[in-house]
Order: sequence, then C-alpha cells, then structure tokens
Amino acid sequence: MQEVNSYYADSAASPLAYPPLQGDQRADICIVGAGYTGLSSALHLAERGYSVIVIEAESVGFGASGRNGGHVGIGQRKDQYYLEKQFGKDIARGLWDMGLEAVDTVKQLIEKHHIDCDLKQVFCTWPTAASIAASLKKRWSICGTTISSTRWNI
Ligand SMILES: Cc1cc2nc3c(=O)[nH]c(=O)nc-3n(C[C@H](O)[C@H](O)[C@H](O)COP(=O)(O)OP(=O)(O)OC[C@H]3O[C@@H](n4cnc5c(N)ncnc54)[C@H](O)[C@@H]3O)c2cc1C
Repeated sequence: MQEVNSYYADSAASPLAYPPLQGDQRADICIVGAGYTGLSSALHLAERGYSVIVIEAESVGFGASGRNGGHVGIGQRKDQYYLEKQFGKDIARGLWDMGLEAVDTVKQLIEKHHIDCDLKQVFCTWPTAASIAASLKKRWSICGTTISSTRWNI
C-alpha cells in the first residue's frame, strides 16, 4: 500500500521502525495490525503476563490511527436521546459512562507511558441555534456532566 502524504505523517516526532518478522516465532497471542486496537490489546495482554507478537503490514499507525483528527471524545456516534429511546435509560447511561471511561484510559496511558503527544484538555462544540444549545444543556445535565465554562449567548 502506498503511504499518503499528510500533516500527521509530516509532523510526527519520529517514525517508528521495527524489523520484519524472521523465521518461526511463538507467542501466546499474535495480533494483526499495529493501530490503536492492536497496540492497546497487545499492551493490556502483555500487562496481564501474556507473550504477544504484533505484526503489521506497513508501519505502526499506518492506518486510521496514524492519520485521524486526534480528538479524544466522549459519547457515542448517536446522541443520548437516541440511545435512551432505543435501549432504555440504563443502557444509554452505561454507554455514556463507557465514553468517559475511555477518555480516562487514554489519559492514564499517556501518563503511565510518558507519551509525548501534546495532549490538551478542551471542550468545544458549535451549537448553531439557541434550540440546539438548550438541548445540549439538557442532555448533559441528564448525564450529570458539569460544564464549567460555557457561553450560551446565541
Ligand atoms: C480521517 C479520520 C479521522 C478520524 N478522527 C478521529 C478522531 O478525531 N477521534 C477518534 O477517536 N477517532 C477518529 N477516527 C477513527 C479512528 O482513527 C479509528 O477508529 C481507529 O484508528 C481504528 O484503529 P484500528 O487499530 O482499529 O485500525 P487502524 O488504525 O486502521 O489499524 C489497522 C492496522 O492493521 C494493518 N493491517 C491491515 N491488514 C493487515 C494484514 N493483513 N496484515 C498486517 N497488518 C494489517 C494496517 O496497515 C493498519 O496499520 C478517525 C478516522 C479517520 C479515517
């Protein structure tokens, strides 16, 4: 596959290069693909004492993990209203909490492994109408999320 030029590839600190797999290797688990999914699985399995080999066809972070927006967001692809209607309050709440937990996990990994990734904690949203702003406020208060600094002056 051909490498696509991107801001991310050009501004990455240093490309990670690992030797190709040679000969026969044995491990408890072999993971195919060194993106977030593969690397996170490998790390967590290794922390639990498994021997793990990660094989990657191109280079670490070659796929979506190396060229995404870099936003560590909470929430799911569907909003809380939709999830509540579809699955009920408990499951919707569980999904919201899972989003918060995922953000914490990313923060903990960055801290624990001293990952120099220029993490910044911000909150940003662009309600385009007062009705949307009101709806967002209501939705977040349902989930018990505190908003510390917000301008609702549209
Ligand atoms: C443009 C864009 C913007 C995004 N923005 C965000 C964002 O801001 N925030 C967010 O949370 N998510 C974002 N995402 C989603 C996020 O990037 C992906 O969900 C995540 O990177 C998926 O990780 P992954 O490890 O599953 O897949 P990938 O990162 O794609 O990793 C798969 C790896 O497997 C390798 N591979 C595939 N087949 C083989 C094989 N047969 N043998 C060996 N290796 C193989 C590939 O080369 C690749 O490196 C974005 C995605 C895109 C495309």
